[in-house]
Amino acid sequence: MKLPRLILLIPLFWWPFAEPLAAGLELQPVTGKVYAIVGDLGNRSPQNLGNNATFGLVVTSAGVVLIDPGGSYRGAQRIHQVIKQVTQQPVVAVINTGGQDHRWLGNGYFKQQGARIIASAKAVADQKARSQDQLIGLTSLVGTAGVEGTDPVYADETFDQVFELTLGDTRFEIHHSGQAHTPGDSYVWLPQQEVMFSGDIVYVERMLGVGSQSSSKRWIDVFEAMAAYQPRHLVPGHGKATTLDHARKDTLGYLRFLRAAVAEFMDGGGDMSDIGGVDQSDYHYLLNHETLAGRNAQQVFTELEWE
Ligand SMILES: [Zn+2]
Repeated sequence: MKLPRLILLIPLFWWPFAEPLAAGLELQPVTGKVYAIVGDLGNRSPQNLGNNATFGLVVTSAGVVLIDPGGSYRGAQRIHQVIKQVTQQPVVAVINTGGQDHRWLGNGYFKQQGARIIASAKAVADQKARSQDQLIGLTSLVGTAGVEGTDPVYADETFDQVFELTLGDTRFEIHHSGQAHTPGDSYVWLPQQEVMFSGDIVYVERMLGVGSQSSSKRWIDVFEAMAAYQPRHLVPGHGKATTLDHARKDTLGYLRFLRAAVAEFMDGGGDMSDIGGVDQSDYHYLLNHETLAGRNAQQVFTELEWE
């Protein structure tokens, strides 16, 4: 009598350890068949394979839709392992919400699985312009083995402002409202579930990055356009699924603060070489502030010189 029970227990006990490929990614249920796949808040590494971002998963009655495919071929494989914990349905569509590496460099893997790939035309142009730089940067951070199989693969279907998609029982609206963290950033709205996938328009828990591909000014407008949908659930580009209020605090609040603080610094005759003097301590609760705060201030300084 005891032997069969023991045999049953072994697979149950071992099951959580049978998915080593999914290491470093947390599956977070959002509502119904909508999930966030939450990756590292830090930089790209050999351990996370470039998946240092949050991705979205929607299981429809006509297959799986993935919002952002991960930052490398192997990173995409790892995301697929997480998806298989939820459903055996195929990934039929992948949406790239922007031009940063973790929004698109996993495309090649999912294209091989038969998925169609959708992105804004501006995002594809940005990906093409920066693909070589991104691959060089990625290789230096995740290593040659980590980037194995990663080739630039671009969207099959592009749009300028709005793309509507209905798959089985689920409706998706993809909106590009302008440049934010990158020139082609989009947000994905599920009107039935009132879920918003914001891509890099929203960072929570960690400090956002303003780069030379960003516009801190238009980012604020794009955030407001996204927020006007009043999402019940918000899946950010970085951090766990959360509320609009939390996104306002960590992203919109920081952007407004930073632009005002740098403008004040410039009005006081401050020079770029002293930009470290801009006090950002109110936002030191955000991870990565040590490496990003000074760079963000420099970038906003450059932007404001041209406004
Ligand atoms: Zn990002």
